[in-house]
Amino acid sequence: MAQLQHDSGQQLLTITGGLMIGAEHSPTFAGSVRSAHEWNLPHEVLGPDDIRRRFPQFATTDHVVAFYETAAGFVHPEESVWAHVQQAMLRGADLHFSEPVTSWEADDNGVRVTTIRGTYEAEKLIIAPGAWAPQLMADLALPFTVTRQVLYWFEPIGNAEAFAVGKFPIFIWELPDGLQLYGFPLQPGVNGVKAAFFYRGPSCNPDLVNRVVSDEEITAIRAALAAHVPALNGPLVDAATCLYTEVPDHHFVIALHPQHANVVLASPCSGHGYKFSSVIGEILADLAVEGKTRHPIALFDTARLVG
Ligand SMILES: Cc1cc2nc3c(=O)[nH]c(=O)nc-3n(C[C@H](O)[C@H](O)[C@H](O)COP(=O)(O)OP(=O)(O)OC[C@H]3O[C@@H](n4cnc5c(N)ncnc54)[C@H](O)[C@@H]3O)c2cc1C
Repeated sequence: MAQLQHDSGQQLLTITGGLMIGAEHSPTFAGSVRSAHEWNLPHEVLGPDDIRRRFPQFATTDHVVAFYETAAGFVHPEESVWAHVQQAMLRGADLHFSEPVTSWEADDNGVRVTTIRGTYEAEKLIIAPGAWAPQLMADLALPFTVTRQVLYWFEPIGNAEAFAVGKFPIFIWELPDGLQLYGFPLQPGVNGVKAAFFYRGPSCNPDLVNRVVSDEEITAIRAALAAHVPALNGPLVDAATCLYTEVPDHHFVIALHPQHANVVLASPCSGHGYKFSSVIGEILADLAVEGKTRHPIALFDTARLVG
């Protein structure tokens, strides 16, 4: 992402610090500490009083601790998608928008992709269709579940400055019932502070998904914010639905197609793939051009999901 930021000359990554809050043995806190030790990441462990003193926006109890990572932050998704597109075009990519693929086929001679406008032939094919992976990878019958997720933006009550970058970190708070509440600081040019639940969504069909956010859903997030980040339980500025493409172990699918070495499969989602988009792009290019990559991707093979 840093390379893309350099090549595009745009700010695509904002460092804010990151707070992973929960009970001492919660996967969110304990898992973060374990990763930091495994990968030697600078971090701090904050007790309840430390959290209260440094991040008074959070209504913590004496039963929670926090992992704090100074180098954490957020990627600007829309801007970086566009920056990737621009860099691809600068390198000769011929991009077609609003032209859905209806089918594909492959054999030793190459691949054929049929869209609503025509059929294209090529040597190699990369399939990365997001929530439409169940359709475009149907031949493998992988255990995908597409779930509807909701994002909310709230106007802070009182001093909005308390939620600015530098004052308020990105955060994930694992609640006693295991549900994760997460949020971001106020972003320049964005109305409201973004917050949401992780993994709280019914499975759905991406073409028929209900895009209306219900009062019950708003009530649920308000209750969580009122209890944990009270000043964020202000006026609702906006809410939007989005789709996770999940597999049971919540890891990615990145692999060569088991029957077609000239087809590369990618479903890097389960709600946490975007931050890896640049390196995943590199891996997919390696697999398409060389049939292999130097990056460790065994964890993401389709074989783990079948049989
Ligand atoms: C609410 C929410 C919050 C998230 N928060 C984070 C986060 O904080 N950090 C993080 O790292 N990740 C996050 N994610 C996950 C992240 O968005 C995904 O992991 C990532 O976007 C997956 O990338 P993708 O390329 O596989 O799919 P998408 O980004 O969904 O891209 C797939 C593309 O394929 C196109 N397509 C599908 N079918 C066809 C077809 N038949 N023909 C032509 N085109 C087709 C689609 O239109 C789409 O443009 C979040 C996701 C959601 C829903």
